[in-house]
Amino acid sequence: MEILKMSELYVPTVKEDPADADIASHRLLLRAGMIRKMSSGVYTFLPLGYRVLRKIEQIVREEMDAIGSQEIMMPVLQSADLWHESGRWNDYGPELMRLSDRHDREFCLGPTHEELITSLIKGELRSYKQLPITLYQIQVKFRDEIRPRFGLLRSREFIMKDAYSFHADQDSLQETYDAMSKAYGIICDRCALEWRGVEADSGQIGGKVTTEFMALAESGEAELVYCDCGYSANTEAGECIAHPSIYDVPAMEKIATPGIHTIDELAEFLDIPASSTVKALSGKDSQGQLHVLFIPGDHELNEIKAYRAIDGFELLTDEEMLSFGLHKGSMGPVGLPEDAKVVADRSLQRIGKWVVGANEEGYHFIGAELGRDFKVDAWADLCVVNVGDACPQCKCELKGARGIEVSQVFQLGDKYSRSMGATFLDKNGKEQPFIMGCYGVGVSRTLAAVVEQHNDEAGIKWPMSVAPAHVCVIPLTVGDDEVFPVAENLAESVAKLGFEVVLDDRNERPGVKFADADLIGWPLQIIVGKRGIAEGKVEVRRRRTGERSDFSIAAIPELLSFAERNFERMADGGVAVFDSLFKFDD
Ligand code: ATP
Ligand code: MG
Repeated sequence: MEILKMSELYVPTVKEDPADADIASHRLLLRAGMIRKMSSGVYTFLPLGYRVLRKIEQIVREEMDAIGSQEIMMPVLQSADLWHESGRWNDYGPELMRLSDRHDREFCLGPTHEELITSLIKGELRSYKQLPITLYQIQVKFRDEIRPRFGLLRSREFIMKDAYSFHADQDSLQETYDAMSKAYGIICDRCALEWRGVEADSGQIGGKVTTEFMALAESGEAELVYCDCGYSANTEAGECIAHPSIYDVPAMEKIATPGIHTIDELAEFLDIPASSTVKALSGKDSQGQLHVLFIPGDHELNEIKAYRAIDGFELLTDEEMLSFGLHKGSMGPVGLPEDAKVVADRSLQRIGKWVVGANEEGYHFIGAELGRDFKVDAWADLCVVNVGDACPQCKCELKGARGIEVSQVFQLGDKYSRSMGATFLDKNGKEQPFIMGCYGVGVSRTLAAVVEQHNDEAGIKWPMSVAPAHVCVIPLTVGDDEVFPVAENLAESVAKLGFEVVLDDRNERPGVKFADADLIGWPLQIIVGKRGIAEGKVEVRRRRTGERSDFSIAAIPELLSFAERNFERMADGGVAVFDSLFKFDD
């Protein structure tokens, strides 16, 4: 194995925290000289950051190859024509980076490659006998994010592994989808990520069945709910369960609720939990049609779900509400304007009697009965799930966590093959659209997620599998003929064992070297000083646990030779590789 020399490496570490870096991974990757910001959401990987990125890419590559997915490389530049075919030139919105060439032909920089790969396969794969096939690439992606932030976690240019599979039928898609999901879990494990696979929303890509892989982290943008029974979901995707109404009055009663406008005020006034009330929201669809939505009082509307249920859904402004004759704060399903469409969350289907606004300023109804007093035009899944809601599988209370979405798998079905006319001949010689799946790993986001989970005050604590190098040898003096040659020899013998070794041969104070080593996060540091050498010893420090011990110089290569060497393949990212070393403490 090679020996890297700190004096030659381009690692511009920084002592102070950068001003605009608010989370650990962003701050530490900048400070450790691994990345640099070029413009908003656009980064350069410096040598050490790039080494880590390549290791993660390699892990991803190995797991893709292991399930028979074949690597290709598609262009970043994509013709707008393809995006018009799929309909996404309009649907994708401002996140799509658009540009035109010298002939005024329109293009985009790929945010994802469903269109491109579908056009590649179209006309080329003709028979069911050639299916299934899965292709992938590891490549730069562009998305003009509305709020690029958190460094590599949400950038405008980032590295993704994207894979696409083509099938003759749903069973075959399911098989690849399952293999891919398993591979994604293994990739997270090999990167030493604590993760969960969650039910998710398919967003812009389309399709119905999808799982997101979340690296658990407080700084994560995604909120998850999970249950010990194994259920877990993105709060945006999970379905909520409503609580029964408390008032089981025989007839609907109108009660005065002066000055009451919010659910909390109503619940307090009636001395019932918010969960026993029904919240109303008003909106309009793309045709300007009025919709009044009802959800359990203790939940929030998920606007993405509302948008999916109602084409072009938008919440009404206060002025629009007035123009429709609605009373904000006391809306209900009884006595709505004639043409209003009533859409209610599916969970309310089970709730016979509602505590809800009376469409009259200062009044609410209790015991408004579904069917008798009002009707619902459509039922839909509309809410954001809350921590504490009942688990849809086992009814236990859901627990909450935050996560970073590092990857996602989708069953696309025929969404793209149909719109783009990509077909094959089935067993009966009949033309059919391909059944497709697509699968993405955020490689650069994964790098940041690893740092989010493996760091402390002093810096990064890389797992062995993705560390920029495994062992750093730190001579306290350089260029002398006592300490330095011992350090060089040690570096060489450790490298010979198959470890990637860094020799900190800079003429710097020990404090500077220690601080840099902790900041950069080499998993193991070996410190060679004059005093130790006099006793034939060096100090060995383990970054992950902070353990430190003196070992005899002669024993080091032998002790390290006991350590497993295939860290890249270890199920825990090799974080425990040196566990046994410190048992030999002498
Ligand atoms: P998000 O919801 O976080 O915006 P997404 O669901 O739109 O992400 P996908 O289309 O599923 O993203 O892309 C696959 C993977 O690419 C994601 O799981 C994520 O790891 C990564 N990714 C997506 N957007 C970004 C970004 N702006 N910066 C870095 N990585 C990203
Ligand atoms: Mg996603």
